[in-house]
Amino acid sequence: MDFRRRQLLKAGFAAGAALAGSALGAGRSEAAQPKAARQVPGIYRIAVGDIIVTAILDGYVNLGTNMFPDATPDEVERLQRASFAPTGDTVRASVNCFVVNTGDKLAIIDAGGRDFLGPTMGDMPRGLAAAGIDPANVDVVIATHMHPDHIGGIATKNGAAAFANAQLVVCGDDWDFWMSPDNLNNAAEVAKPFFHAAQAAATPYAKTVRKIGPDEEVIPGIRSVPLPGHTPGHTGYMVSSGNDTLFVWGDIVHSPMLQFPHPNWSIALDTSPQKAIMTRRKAFDMAVTDRLLVAGMHLPYPGIGHVVRSNGFRFVPADWVYTLQAP
Ligand SMILES: [Zn+2]
Repeated sequence: MDFRRRQLLKAGFAAGAALAGSALGAGRSEAAQPKAARQVPGIYRIAVGDIIVTAILDGYVNLGTNMFPDATPDEVERLQRASFAPTGDTVRASVNCFVVNTGDKLAIIDAGGRDFLGPTMGDMPRGLAAAGIDPANVDVVIATHMHPDHIGGIATKNGAAAFANAQLVVCGDDWDFWMSPDNLNNAAEVAKPFFHAAQAAATPYAKTVRKIGPDEEVIPGIRSVPLPGHTPGHTGYMVSSGNDTLFVWGDIVHSPMLQFPHPNWSIALDTSPQKAIMTRRKAFDMAVTDRLLVAGMHLPYPGIGHVVRSNGFRFVPADWVYTLQAP
């Protein structure tokens, strides 16, 4: 656009605004409609073959940029500016859950953070209600791992199962690690709340928990994919039906803004940073090579899209309209 055209447009807008002003008239100083600041519940559905997956927004988490030990302040600021995000020492990430309805079974993969990590999470129940999903109808609660922002929501504050009729499915390596009284006692002070949260949330399910291993069928249509490193038993899930597949990859990425361009930037929460980096690289490679549709718990809500190579990697969110079915 050249300068003259800009000036013309400006003049046009000014004239339009003046007209609108006179048409609306003066007199009323306030809108009749109250300003609603709270967002509507996040629910978003896609079809994976005959399976319906509903992404539910639990909230968000602010991550200190110092949680990425390899991140340099200059590069963080460059990426924040390139993403039109606020600059500073935090980056914000979605906290997502995914409900999978196969027709025969209703499953939820992760359940958000409840209030374990503060008030920016815990919206999952409101999302389920808005989606018309009754927690009592959930057959299986599937955990990618037992960190509080994933498993916190499976129990209520008074220690009951939030999904009263569901069995918990989790990788045995994660269960054994987080539920161990010895590991809790030997943990560093900063890590202890993570053990307390995992144990508080999972205990209501302890009698019936199903501990799984790699490449296991969880229910027909969902298989486990080992993605170790972030936690000992961090696990993804391949949701497939007909020719469609959705790779629910849990916490392969915590900060999309930082870790797609820099897959070697681990987060301080990784129990094995080197393994987590290897796993992330493998997952990115697989997603790019197989043109896989991926779903991530910290990808920008609804957290569904593709990965491409571009100065490292880049996330391409799925376009809402391409995932709609005819009414
Ligand atoms: Zn997480």
